[in-house]
Amino acid sequence: MKTDLSTHTISVPFHKAAVGEEEAQAAAEVIRSGWLTMGPQTLEFERQFAEYVGAKYALAVNSCTAALHLALEAVGLKEGDEVLVPTVTFTSTAEVVAYFHAKPVLVDVDAATLNISVEDAERRITSRTRAIIPVHLAGQPCDMDEVHALAAKHGLRVIEDAAHSLPASYHGKTIGALSEITCFSFYATKTLATGEGGMVTTDDAGIADRVRIMRLHGIGRDAWKRYTSEGSWYYEVLAPGYKYNLTDVQSAIGLVQLRKCAEMRSKRAEIARRYNEAFGKLPTLEIPTLKNDRESALHLYILRLNRDKLRINRNEFVAALKQREIGTSVHFIPLHMHPYYRDTYGYDSADFPVATREYERYMSLPLFPDMSEEQIHHVIESVTSIAEQNRI
Ligand SMILES: *Cc1c(COP(=O)(O)O)cnc(C)c1O
Repeated sequence: MKTDLSTHTISVPFHKAAVGEEEAQAAAEVIRSGWLTMGPQTLEFERQFAEYVGAKYALAVNSCTAALHLALEAVGLKEGDEVLVPTVTFTSTAEVVAYFHAKPVLVDVDAATLNISVEDAERRITSRTRAIIPVHLAGQPCDMDEVHALAAKHGLRVIEDAAHSLPASYHGKTIGALSEITCFSFYATKTLATGEGGMVTTDDAGIADRVRIMRLHGIGRDAWKRYTSEGSWYYEVLAPGYKYNLTDVQSAIGLVQLRKCAEMRSKRAEIARRYNEAFGKLPTLEIPTLKNDRESALHLYILRLNRDKLRINRNEFVAALKQREIGTSVHFIPLHMHPYYRDTYGYDSADFPVATREYERYMSLPLFPDMSEEQIHHVIESVTSIAEQNRI
């Protein structure tokens, strides 16, 4: 058996959740309590989450996709309406619009940050445009002053897709307390991980009420109390709602993760700083552009290749990293390039010149709090030598 080879190879997964004994203990306690679904842990998670981001209300749900769906429901999106969505995002951001038989109007991105271009968004507004969903890509907040100004001018609702941006801030204000509605993800790879999970934050009591009702079958508020000793058998269905609630097992994990949130961010920040230091010197590579009037959650490290200075393309670069057992990903394949969006709405790459061009040259490197010194070094050494060996 040739075991000597494998023991000398350092492998770096693209991501590993920073969960351990504390999370296991918290989940085990919930299981031992005998109360498995939404209950006291979820209420406490909501309370602490709202406080953490500085919002009046936080409603826990089972994914960010559910959060976005409920947000659009709460603002009354209707069939035939249009919603502005950046093309560089995960399909969740746009699919929820299609749930309503409304149209996701894809918008090109800013070349520097890859966030939604507010200028391009304005060009795509019609009499049917109802809302805009800015996505804080990689954790860096969008130009929210401009987004809010555009929304005010055209009477649009603003729903933030903050799946990448916990914790992040814009002009000193925490993401989650900036717009009418903000949606977070606790998916396994996100900055606060409960496996699956999400949160809606808002300062609006009416929206909070609607989300609270619709996440659990449209049953009148506090319906879950009927399962507790103080509850009763009586409940009222107010609307055909959804089954989007979060369980107490997940919320218990979330409470531990929330306490570690800032520390996890600073560990990612240190890794990103070292990547920047190493890759910023190389003419073949372009490091992320971070604006100094806002703080990124640093969820992803998106590196771009300067194609005119390299002999290999992004796919070949990714393959070379894979050979060295380094996991990478691409965030994201622009939505207008996927068969569903292209064929259903007739999107054409020529209408999204920036996203189409940048997509060809970006990739995401491993960036997670528990990366070891050897792993960080292996990524830096590998990226540098692949770039140097293939320099024109
Ligand atoms: C992960 C992600 C989502 C969806 O989150 P889920 O909790 O998995 O539903 C939405 N938007 C963006 C930008 C994401 O990266």
